[in-house]
Amino acid sequence: MAKYKLGVLYGDGIGPEIVKSSVEVLKATTSKLANGTQFEFVELPMGWEGIKKYNDPVPEMTKKGLEEMNGWLMAPHDSSAYPDEHRISKRNPSGELRHYFDLYSNVRPSRVLPGTKGLVEKADLVIFRENTEGFLSDRNMYKGIGEFMVSPDVALVTGVFSRKAIERIAHEAFKLAMTRRKKVAVVHKANVIKYAFELFRDICYEVGEKYYPEVEVEDYLIDAMTAHLVRRAEDFDVIVTENLFGDILSDLAGELVGSLGLSPSLNTNGKQAMAQAAHGSAPDIAGQNVANPTSMILSTVMLLQWLAANHEDNKLNEIAKVMEKAVLETVAEGTTTRDLGGSATTTEFTAAIINKINRNE
Ligand code: ATP
Ligand code: MG
Repeated sequence: MAKYKLGVLYGDGIGPEIVKSSVEVLKATTSKLANGTQFEFVELPMGWEGIKKYNDPVPEMTKKGLEEMNGWLMAPHDSSAYPDEHRISKRNPSGELRHYFDLYSNVRPSRVLPGTKGLVEKADLVIFRENTEGFLSDRNMYKGIGEFMVSPDVALVTGVFSRKAIERIAHEAFKLAMTRRKKVAVVHKANVIKYAFELFRDICYEVGEKYYPEVEVEDYLIDAMTAHLVRRAEDFDVIVTENLFGDILSDLAGELVGSLGLSPSLNTNGKQAMAQAAHGSAPDIAGQNVANPTSMILSTVMLLQWLAANHEDNKLNEIAKVMEKAVLETVAEGTTTRDLGGSATTTEFTAAIINKINRNE
């Protein structure tokens, strides 16, 4: 009997609603399949809950607790609304956990789901966002902060690009490309920011040589890539880029394929994985029972698939498959939340998925 420990971080805004929904769907699938897999869920404070109880959005006990986990469900956080002492000169909770656990790889798939309408007709691409360096980096920086005020009227932002970090994210991208359509697009801005992005681009090509001739590599400037994505999203397979560009491109890709509410992501470091919807805490709709939990459920599916590969445990893949099928079928049949034009509440949508799991043989 295999047992896995999963952390559950409810976070802010719509976080509690979409994380609760994902845990319920996972629990329902596990008991329906009864294939000998067990999960222990460990709830840990993060975001406003952490501030209120421990004066810290990511309390020490949360980090220590997560060290014992195989992986965890990370909710979004409303960090721009935190009091100044937790907002200025501090990493937000995602940044804090990504750095603390060196979760360097952020995988963000975007595809038009069956039965949904995107701004593009078809697309099936995966963005690899380097998570620890680049322009959102605070590694090696003064007090761990990558930006500071030079004078009251001038701010200075820095970035870090290192061979080690570029190599490891590039390998992740190429490895996945080998299992897909075998195309990698490297995104940079080497025409203007030359040291950093020539390094990024050239090391990606260097890593690509190890996957030659199977995987085809090309590179794009970030500005050109935004235009290419809008015009011909279906041509892209795997995209690899630095931290800030990855953040922006994945929101663009998410909206192109339908809704941010459908956009999952997974952060990994080779030993542990953090499932996290690609969107924010959506304070505008928080607490109204209208959020779309699909992004978080599909992130949980990615977490299970990653654990399956990491622990060579195909039973986790079975669970992932049933969960994914149930959520996709529910959406395709038209039971959807408001962001997709439907009228189901978060709890109704979750119940519909669980019904389907229990009915399916
Ligand atoms: P953050 O600063 O936390 O990244 P943001 O300003 O980027 O937040 P999001 O929270 O990502 O914004 O939300 C952008 C828009 O998308 C909002 O109108 C929000 O309501 C909507 N949205 C995001 N996630 C979902 C979801 N899961 N279901 C429905 N709507 C969503
Ligand atoms: Mg955002």
